This record gives sequence, C-alpha cells and structure tokens, in this order.
Amino acid sequence: MTTRWAHCLSEIDIKKEMAICSICGPTDIYFRPDGDLVCLTWRRQEENERYLRAQTKIVIDEMGGRCELCGFDDWRALQIDHKIGTNGNRKSKHIIYEAILSGNVGAYQLLCANCNTIKCSEHNERIGFYKVVQYKR
Ligand SMILES: [Zn+2]
Ligand SMILES: [Zn+2]
Repeated sequence: MTTRWAHCLSEIDIKKEMAICSICGPTDIYFRPDGDLVCLTWRRQEENERYLRAQTKIVIDEMGGRCELCGFDDWRALQIDHKIGTNGNRKSKHIIYEAILSGNVGAYQLLCANCNTIKCSEHNERIGFYKVVQYKR
C-alpha cells in the first residue's frame, strides 16, 4: 500500500484545487480538516481499499465465515473463490461482493489461502497461478 508521504504535491494551485503529485501526476487536491493538502487520487485509492476491506468482512460472514474445505476461520486469510475457474475473466471484487450480498452465492465458495492455492494449482487455473506469483512479491 502506498503511503501518502510518497505523494509529494508540487505546483499547487489552490484556486483550481489542482497540483502535480510525484506519483500520480496531475491530480485534484484534497483539503484535510487539519489544513493539510493531500493528493486526492491517493486518498480515493485509500478509501476504496478501506471500503473493500470492510465489505470483505461482511461478505465472508455472509458466506459462513470458514473455509469450505478445511474449516479455517480467520477472515484475513479467507478468499472468495469462483467455483468454476474464471478463465481469466476476472470480475472486480465490487461485482462479486454485490452478487453475493444480493443472494447469488451459488457460483462462489469460501476457501482459505492454502486450500485456494492448492485448488488453483490442481485445476491449473490461470487466475490461481497469477495469484501465486503475486504472493511472492
Ligand atoms: Zn498521488
Ligand atoms: Zn482451507
């Protein structure tokens, strides 16, 4: 996750509420209540992540809160798995969460990170391979 300190604003134009961010380039400015100016692009990302994390917990509770294969129940390592491989057509988390919260749980199951990784490698799912590669970073 990026820290806001890495997002240094220059060429700040208070009237237009625009600035150049060292990471995002031209960006809108967010005026914090304490008077600080921060990169709005960063802030939106940050809020999105926070929102997704909160949603994740709700969705996991909704799905029973434990891995369907081994019963592991720490939500931080639980993942929502598409029962049938997605063939690379990766849906955004927002769409998946919406589907589950509106009652369409059928296509998904809750797996812990271990079971999901094993399932993906056994089924040679492309998404799974992608995930495994990502974990190594
Ligand atoms: Zn930025
Ligand atoms: Zn498991």
